[in-house]
Amino acid sequence: MKHFLRLIKSIKQYWGYVLLNFIFNVLSIAFSLVSMSMVAPFLGLLFGKIALTNTAPPLTFNANSIIQNFYYIISKIIKTYGQADALLFICILVVVMFFLKNLFRYMGMYYLANIRNGVVKDLRNSLYYKILILPLSYFSEQKKGDIMSRMTSDVQEVEWSIMTSLEMVFRDPLTILVYLITLTLLSPQLTIFVLILLPVSGFIIGRIGKSLKKQSIKGQRRLGELLSIIEESLSGLRIIKAFNAIDILYTKFLKKNSALTNLMIKMYRRRDLSAPMSEFLGTLVMVIVMLFGGHLVLAAHPSLSAEIFITYIVIFSQIITPAKSFSTAFYNIQKGIASAERIYEILDAKEIIEEKTNALSINKFSDSIEYQNVTFVYEKEEVLKKINIKIEKGKTIALVGQSGGGKSTFADLLPRFYDCVSGNILIDGQPIDNYKIDDLRGLMGIVTQESILFNGTVLSNIAFGQVNVKEEEVIAAAKVANAHEFIMDMENGYYTNIGDRGVKLSGGQRQRISIARAVLKNPPILILDEATSALDSESEKLVQDAILKLMKNRTSIIIAHRLSTIQHADQIVVLQKGEIIERGTHAELMSLNGTYKKLHDMQTFE
Ligand code: ADP
Ligand code: MG
Repeated sequence: MKHFLRLIKSIKQYWGYVLLNFIFNVLSIAFSLVSMSMVAPFLGLLFGKIALTNTAPPLTFNANSIIQNFYYIISKIIKTYGQADALLFICILVVVMFFLKNLFRYMGMYYLANIRNGVVKDLRNSLYYKILILPLSYFSEQKKGDIMSRMTSDVQEVEWSIMTSLEMVFRDPLTILVYLITLTLLSPQLTIFVLILLPVSGFIIGRIGKSLKKQSIKGQRRLGELLSIIEESLSGLRIIKAFNAIDILYTKFLKKNSALTNLMIKMYRRRDLSAPMSEFLGTLVMVIVMLFGGHLVLAAHPSLSAEIFITYIVIFSQIITPAKSFSTAFYNIQKGIASAERIYEILDAKEIIEEKTNALSINKFSDSIEYQNVTFVYEKEEVLKKINIKIEKGKTIALVGQSGGGKSTFADLLPRFYDCVSGNILIDGQPIDNYKIDDLRGLMGIVTQESILFNGTVLSNIAFGQVNVKEEEVIAAAKVANAHEFIMDMENGYYTNIGDRGVKLSGGQRQRISIARAVLKNPPILILDEATSALDSESEKLVQDAILKLMKNRTSIIIAHRLSTIQHADQIVVLQKGEIIERGTHAELMSLNGTYKKLHDMQTFE
């Protein structure tokens, strides 16, 4: 229920629409009440039972008074024009009343649409934003498919179940309340029966609703698993085919899918039980009311007139519909809450990377980067242990060592993709968590082994993340990155679409576009994480040349697999199991005759 209330609270900002919705609902209820009061006079007229009255009681907003006043008007019409005209008058009046009732009902729903879709829109926006700002580590724990299913199908579920039910939540209790008050005024005795019988049916309905919510959570989780398989398969199609794993994956999918289907069947059956059950319960209550009410009318000293009783039955029968849809709404909401819970789990995920409220701006790097006793832990394993290093402005340091040594982690700490567990990283003497995150990241250009490209044109990929970039600037950057020529050879030059993640390009081409992106950003600090490792030696040369141009006049941290590419670094650091075991220039490390020399010798024979 907590999550439901929270969702309802987010409606707050749409209060104007809520008000309009409320007003029109009240109007709609009022008109339906009035139109129902006309049934008894209609029958009375047909059976010739209308007692002609010459006086009217004061008009108040209650069914009894409306009926009496109505009788007065009818009496007048009958006396002046005759019964046929009176019948016509009643019929026209009923049509007008029902028209108005439904018009206002529509108006109420008209404004509800704004509320409903607004809330869902807000939910989607905040989910997407949250995904963008959550630390990278969040996503290694959570499967991508699961997150996708929360963003799409859970949001949709909330829209379908909760938001669709809003109409009923807003209107039906109001309708039921007004009707019940009217009924009490008409006949308090009869209404007592109704009040006793309603909670009993409510209890039965509530029991089913609870189990529905449990099943719904399970169902959404299974859907997430399915999406995970789809996501993994889409990105691994090449390997799946090469390893003849189509059947294996297909069988896995079939199994998961039928598990989901079975669960959904169970869930829908249970949900569908709600309508027939509440209808039956409703009829039962109705019959009891008719039986008891009939006795009151037929008694030797009737405490209830036949006309009032008929009006009572008509209004009461109308309570059943909102009561039914209210219980349906209740079921749907239970289902939707399960999804809301899953959505709020992401929205409430702790942002580990936080910006201080009085964070400093920084848009110039002027002195040095310093790692002081930096320790980082992944799942209880120390990946970096008390790292100390100082990088002066304009220098290049290279990180080498076996894979898994912590090199990428070392680099990821600088733009605060993660925060260190202990120790400090300083830029120009200030710990990096004192700076605004955007400013900090703005100082850095990053090129990694996997070039991250997006579906779009070459131009938009190079200009990624920047606004108001001129085409000439993009071309200049591409030239520095040795990318201009192959781009011009493409079908539409800079306006060629490169496909999802740049599938239409070769590895070297993708990498040069990533480099062009970094050139265009023109950051003072450069991080290159195995930027050339995935390339063949031909394209490596072109990329390497582009990297050398990019590094000019910048401070760089280079992680390289091939040592030949970093020989000229000002400082080479050998990282092993999270510790710096050697550091110095190429010449110094060679003469040290340690790990670096071993690595170097191994590669010269490759
Ligand atoms: P390198 O870049 O030197 O190959 P990394 O910095 O990528 O090394 O990884 C260092 C260690 O941290 C490895 O033992 C690796 O298993 C672990 N590691 C890296 N990323 C994660 C992660 N997202 N979750 C858990 N452990 C990780
Ligand atoms: Mg790495």
